[in-house]
Amino acid sequence: MSDESVHVAMFPSAGMGHLTPFLRLATLFLNNNCKLTLIIPFPTVTHAESQLLSHFHSSFPQINLIPFHLPPPPSPPISGDPMFIRVKTLRESTHLLPPLITSLSPPLSIFISDIFLVTPLLSITQKLSIPNYTLFTSSASMFSFVSNFPTLAHSKFDLSDEIHIPGIPFSPLPYSSMPPILFQPTLFRDFIMEDSPNLTKLDGFFLNTFEALESHSLKAFSDGKVVKDMPPLYPVGPFLPLEVEGEASSPPLISWLNDQTIGSVVYVCFGSRTALRRDQMREIGFGLLRSGYNFLWVVKDKIVDKEDEEIGLEEVLGVELVERMKEKGLVIKEWVDQTKILSHKSVGGFVSHCGWNSIMEAALNGVPILGWPQHSDQKINAGLVEFSGWGVWNKSWGWGGECVVKGEEIGDAIKEIMDNELLKVKAMEIKEGARKAISVGGDCEVTIKKLIQKLKNN
Ligand code: UDP
Ligand code: UDP
Repeated sequence: MSDESVHVAMFPSAGMGHLTPFLRLATLFLNNNCKLTLIIPFPTVTHAESQLLSHFHSSFPQINLIPFHLPPPPSPPISGDPMFIRVKTLRESTHLLPPLITSLSPPLSIFISDIFLVTPLLSITQKLSIPNYTLFTSSASMFSFVSNFPTLAHSKFDLSDEIHIPGIPFSPLPYSSMPPILFQPTLFRDFIMEDSPNLTKLDGFFLNTFEALESHSLKAFSDGKVVKDMPPLYPVGPFLPLEVEGEASSPPLISWLNDQTIGSVVYVCFGSRTALRRDQMREIGFGLLRSGYNFLWVVKDKIVDKEDEEIGLEEVLGVELVERMKEKGLVIKEWVDQTKILSHKSVGGFVSHCGWNSIMEAALNGVPILGWPQHSDQKINAGLVEFSGWGVWNKSWGWGGECVVKGEEIGDAIKEIMDNELLKVKAMEIKEGARKAISVGGDCEVTIKKLIQKLKNN
């Protein structure tokens, strides 16, 4: 049988933090001559998603891209985080999928969906007898947390408690590191409560991680020490960025980076969907100036890019600060090609919210991290970075918005990571482990090829 007989369908949820890893995983299958169907909810929540999709499709015209048209949004609109509202709509619309799936030819060998859609999809894939896999878009440490969630959710904790979570190498964790969204009555808590007990019913999980970074968690899973009867985990990271990802980015920052000395620039970015308070952003500006280092800072004022486009940088930071910053760095308020920045030799440190994609992109390039987790899984990811020795994280800064961290403190913390030789050595070790995992004949290739063989034999 030719590899073409393996037909992979993928169904991401919402946001660049989910779409990007899906497309990167997709290319692993495309490179192994599998047929690929991408089922994409339309309209996308952000412009960045629709641009990336269109560039990806032009670059891989052989893929079958199926728009999954969603019902119109509820009227009056529900207020809240647009990404979560989208996930809710998706979960309520999966009944529209079966006719679409059964019309595909050849029949599907595997259906890979998003971690946010587990339960609604399970009954569908079971009925259609299609192997159901999930791409978990965060760390194996976070996966340990999610797998243990039903037990954790039913426990009573005090704010001062240290919580043991099987599978997390730096466990016990302070209660303050638990994703707040999951310990409050939120839509998201309901989803994860419903989904976590069903994880063992899936056929497997892809993770954007690698042995050298998360061997403890991966072994705990395979030894059945996190959750009994968990299906196999496939660590196939770190995902390589795609050529097309850069096509949506326009700012002329690479020539600026070319003019800086090696390792002299601190890069600051809080991911694709985290808008900081304006007073906090101004303090970051003062902190960057205080650090004395050159900087490249991506500013975001709104969660969704469509709403951010109308607002100028001066409105967010004030004219005076914007002027002062021009002497030492670049401040950008639009989408940048982050992987190109992190792979540039001038970049010597990364102030990051510790979204998992950002962490893996830094790992791939051996960039030390100053973690500043803002919400969700980010403190768990920051804990892992710190545990692995290639970054630091100042716990007293709290979650995003809990307090306003002063510029003085930020500037000193930046200086500390930029001057820290040990972090650099550790970051290079992590990079080596990352490169080895994705080298020819490395873990990633072996794992994907074995899985494809298994799907062929089914
Ligand atoms: N990203 C980018 N340019 C930007 C902002 C973000 O390329 O201006 C990318 C970043 O490289 C990463 C993704 O967006 O691949 C963000 O994912 P992550 O998991 O780090 O955080 P999230 O946005 O989901 O919070
Ligand atoms: N979460 C998860 N897996 C992920 C990302 C997030 O289980 O890959 C959970 C996590 O518990 C988090 C919640 O989903 O608290 C909300 O995540 P959010 O949408 O903020 O994550 P992101 O958009 O950064 O992936």
